[in-house]
Amino acid sequence: MITIRPIPAFNDNYIWHLQAGNEHWVVDPGDAAPVKKALEGAKLSGILLTHHHFDHTGGVASLVKEFDCPVFGPGTIDGVTHPLADGDQFTLLQRDCEVFAVPGHTLDHIALALHASDGIHLFCGDTLFAAGCGRLFEGTPAQMHESLTKLASLPEDTKVYCAHEYTLANLQFASAAEPGNGDITARLESDRATRDRDQPTLPSSIGLELATNPFLRTGSPEIRAQAAAHGTTPDASAVEIFATLRHWKDNF
Ligand SMILES: [Zn+2]
Repeated sequence: MITIRPIPAFNDNYIWHLQAGNEHWVVDPGDAAPVKKALEGAKLSGILLTHHHFDHTGGVASLVKEFDCPVFGPGTIDGVTHPLADGDQFTLLQRDCEVFAVPGHTLDHIALALHASDGIHLFCGDTLFAAGCGRLFEGTPAQMHESLTKLASLPEDTKVYCAHEYTLANLQFASAAEPGNGDITARLESDRATRDRDQPTLPSSIGLELATNPFLRTGSPEIRAQAAAHGTTPDASAVEIFATLRHWKDNF
């Protein structure tokens, strides 16, 4: 039995805490202090990293110093003891964990799919967000579109653990990009109530993202029409629609 809990950090980051028995792992510890607090005296078994940004890696040195634990992640990051690349598989909490390269937000970005008894748990950092996706700091729209397509092809019941609580702002954009999509309206209402109770809107699921995330819905006629109003041609490719949505969202 694996328990997965969010450890809130900074303004809107989530450091995901995975526990099975006495084993504890964290994903993207940008800050060590909230991790140490959440461990309540337990020993950290290891660290998983999705990409090199400081709000995902800033706590690594302090945690390694205290717990002398392994660090799994992109080989580009200082302090990684187990470099991971696309297609790698390793054992995490007695389960298979699969590695996907998902360049776009950064070029070194990876996503981790943990195959548990109750389905796949996907740790996707700043690539796929609830109703959104990460900004393109290093990669091209074509790279990010391909990365998102790869994640969207996972089973619909895959649970999606994003690294930020951006859901409400993303859903507001999704409403503008596809105003007639009732699933987006319903999700906005439900997630607003969740945030009013100060609860995380995550994990999401691949099925919910396919229904409500504009960046996975470039084939929707309404989204294509909205993208056309923001500069694409009627025969635009999925990548061109994606690039237009991303640019529009950057200025939304
Ligand atoms: Zn980032």
